[in-house]
Amino acid sequence: MTATRVSEKTALVYDDLFLEHRTGDHPECPERLVAIRERLIESGLWEGRLHVPPRPATDEEILRVHASEHLERLRAAAAGRGARLDPDTVMSERSFEVALLSAGGAISAAEAVLDGRVRRALALVRPPGHHATRDVAMGFCLLNNVAVAARHLRVARGVRRVAILDWDVHHGNGTQEIFYDDPTVLYLSFHRWPFYPGTGAADETGAGEGKGFTVNVPLSAGTPRAEYLDRFQTVLEEKVKPFAPEFVLVSAGFDAYRDDPIGGLGLETMDFATLTHCAVELAESTAEGRLVSVLEGGYDLGEMGRLVEAHLAALDSGGG
Ligand SMILES: [Zn+2]
Repeated sequence: MTATRVSEKTALVYDDLFLEHRTGDHPECPERLVAIRERLIESGLWEGRLHVPPRPATDEEILRVHASEHLERLRAAAAGRGARLDPDTVMSERSFEVALLSAGGAISAAEAVLDGRVRRALALVRPPGHHATRDVAMGFCLLNNVAVAARHLRVARGVRRVAILDWDVHHGNGTQEIFYDDPTVLYLSFHRWPFYPGTGAADETGAGEGKGFTVNVPLSAGTPRAEYLDRFQTVLEEKVKPFAPEFVLVSAGFDAYRDDPIGGLGLETMDFATLTHCAVELAESTAEGRLVSVLEGGYDLGEMGRLVEAHLAALDSGGG
């Protein structure tokens, strides 16, 4: 018998402040999180688990992945009560504050798992992060939440190898760029191709010491679901498992869902449970189960709740 109790149920990281990033008439809207929360409450998955309060990321934590000019640009935009950073990416009065909490929320989730308070955690944060590069906010993303968490694990907590599994339908160009020459963070992306943002070709595999630690799987629209899921399982087994990650992060986008209004790659709701089981099995095999999932995209407001419900239920049930 062991005296320590690690909660088997996935922890949630959420805060109402995430609703204060106001984007106007925009697919990446606060209603995404409202829909998720309502559905999880309805299905009984919200209560009865650890809720980890997010805390804002510090400048030091942000600057491990972003240029100081980038951080200052966002801070100045906040002081100016908002800005349009690119045609897709807007900031409202409180967006900077929210972005710091979103990145910090990914860290809070990672710390809860690393400290052994819980086996897995899901950070329901926004704005999303995986398009944010070292220098540029783009594609609805201000700060790269999952990258901030990965570097935190590496630099501040001594985790030696981190794998990031990104199944958002868009390529995570920001995450790829940040870790492109870093052999300690393996970045794997499954994404629609050709598609926004245009990066993520199969021959983009990393540079210098990081060569081989970026794995891109571009998939054309119309790829059969079974093929997608099969390749996911195979690539995890052949490319990620040998890397032996000590911590698994998931960039969990839900815009590969077949009816997503801006994405879509033919996946059904329960396919996200299958992807989740694969990720959990990987974490169980090399990382003592340590896994944190961070919300990225997903824009079908009618289905968003059920998509995340499927993901969370699979996280709870483990790798089986
Ligand atoms: Zn996306």
